[in-house]
Amino acid sequence: MTATSAPTATRDLAALRHTAAHLLAHAVIDLFGEDVKLAIGPAIENGFYYDFLKDTPFVPEDLPRLEARMRELIAAGLHMEGRPVERAEAERYYRERNQPFKLEILASIPESEPITMYTIGTFTDLCRGGHVDNSRDVGAVKLLSIAGAYWRGDEHNPMLQRIYGTAFPTQAELDAYLAQLAEAERRDHRKLGRELDLFSIQDEAGPGLIFWHPKGGAVRRQMEDWLHEELVRRGYELVYTPHVMRLGLWEQSGHTGFYRDNMFSPIAVDKDRYQLKPMNCPGHILIYKSRLRSYRELPVRLAELGTVYRYERSGVLHGLLRVRGFTQDDAHIFCRPDQIEAEIAECVEFAREVLRVFGFERYEVELSARDPARPGEYAGTDEEWRRAEDALVTTLQRMDIPFRRQPGEAVFYGPKIDVKLVDAIGRPWQLTTVQFDFNLPRRFGLAYVAEDGSQQTPLMVHRALWGSAERFFGVLIEHYAGAFPVWLAPVQAVVLPITDDQLAYARSVAAALRAAGFRVELDDSNERLQKKIRTHQMQKVPYMLVVGKSEAAANTVNVRSRSGDQAALGLEDFSRRLAAEVAARR
Ligand SMILES: [Zn+2]
Ligand SMILES: [Zn+2]
Repeated sequence: MTATSAPTATRDLAALRHTAAHLLAHAVIDLFGEDVKLAIGPAIENGFYYDFLKDTPFVPEDLPRLEARMRELIAAGLHMEGRPVERAEAERYYRERNQPFKLEILASIPESEPITMYTIGTFTDLCRGGHVDNSRDVGAVKLLSIAGAYWRGDEHNPMLQRIYGTAFPTQAELDAYLAQLAEAERRDHRKLGRELDLFSIQDEAGPGLIFWHPKGGAVRRQMEDWLHEELVRRGYELVYTPHVMRLGLWEQSGHTGFYRDNMFSPIAVDKDRYQLKPMNCPGHILIYKSRLRSYRELPVRLAELGTVYRYERSGVLHGLLRVRGFTQDDAHIFCRPDQIEAEIAECVEFAREVLRVFGFERYEVELSARDPARPGEYAGTDEEWRRAEDALVTTLQRMDIPFRRQPGEAVFYGPKIDVKLVDAIGRPWQLTTVQFDFNLPRRFGLAYVAEDGSQQTPLMVHRALWGSAERFFGVLIEHYAGAFPVWLAPVQAVVLPITDDQLAYARSVAAALRAAGFRVELDDSNERLQKKIRTHQMQKVPYMLVVGKSEAAANTVNVRSRSGDQAALGLEDFSRRLAAEVAARR
């Protein structure tokens, strides 16, 4: 397993894509005339878009035509020409062309700021700049989709039509990206979640709330069993805390101040108000505080698969990845200053073990530090921040892990290490976080009795490795494209009798394997064998055990693996092989 540095996002790519957005608007006007109202056209993470208002909405068939026109414009080698203009001139320009959105943008530019117009070919646009010089530099373009988008993202405003596209310097790079996009679609966890019957989100229950179906639940149980064992082995203590606690506790923790927008509204109970927990930290703090602690018993490592609820706008919810209710694999470590490096190292090591066991080969590490220009905006003293950052840096260096330092990315209460795993198709996912906290120990007056009898404040570290069970499961589904390794697979083997004559034997095979602790199904449907095999291939079951007359007579199974290999094995041999594979977590 290797840690890699993330490729740096190139400004050039953004300039190229932003220029492509101008060319898209150019093409739209060429094809549909100047009546189309223009809004904005920025570069975005993987491409660009432009928002338009058109009387008859764009249809998918328009995209290839627009794309063809854009290619002509690219091939023409048009120069991008920018010039500063007087506000009055820009206003006149857009009033003559009846472009209300552009006039609104103009009005929102402060008097002190310069106004620039950029022309490429016959199309002039109000823009701050950030382009490539020549349309040829745009390289290769592809228009991807049409979507509705409210003007300025506000649902009270008119609905515009957004055309998404992407652009790359070369056709080869564009092709590679489109292939990756298709692969990502094939792996989409929402699609696979339905097809493999893993989970659902039910409108009747509410957005962002996950129902784990039996098959998803089977995967989760394997995830949790492994984690629990590992936690105990590593000296964590497992705890359980309530899902609702008095609002006053969240006032003391500061959540009602800095975290209010992310919390569900309080619940009135008797004469009091209770808060559905958005985090597990205060609960673990109350357990730490429940008695006097001596320096001898530190570090205290409290772990919980803690279910939390957070308010997210419905527009940002996304399958298992962005939800309103989720279970964090949370832990809080309370330790002495002399223990902190060892504790950080242990967290990072544990994170690497999670990645290894769940089949990820690469990861990236980021260290989020304080913004040195704004020292007043953070909890904790300069000295504490310096020591905490030193501890993080020293630990990573000692473990020989390359990392990127991100000044200004720390939260106000402490520096942190984030580990992003890289999945099977090269996408990074932010999951693990190991975070110092100078804030909560003070707010709750946490203490331990030091060797000299004095009362000291312990250091506190928050850490989650999966991040959450839901998010990690979503990433696993996409990483494996639904074909989970045997130890995680919801159904590890399915028994397929060729005819009803082998039904009794098939039942005994399934029963024997279940008794040995495996997750096994029997397909006794009336379908033909080929149809059954196809069905279970689609369900990505690791092993199909075909049993006919000769298998029944010899007490064997004909094993067809997911990869297509076939072998006749004695039932005992197959059971041993499966057990070995599960134990090795291959
Ligand atoms: Zn521009
Ligand atoms: Zn926490």
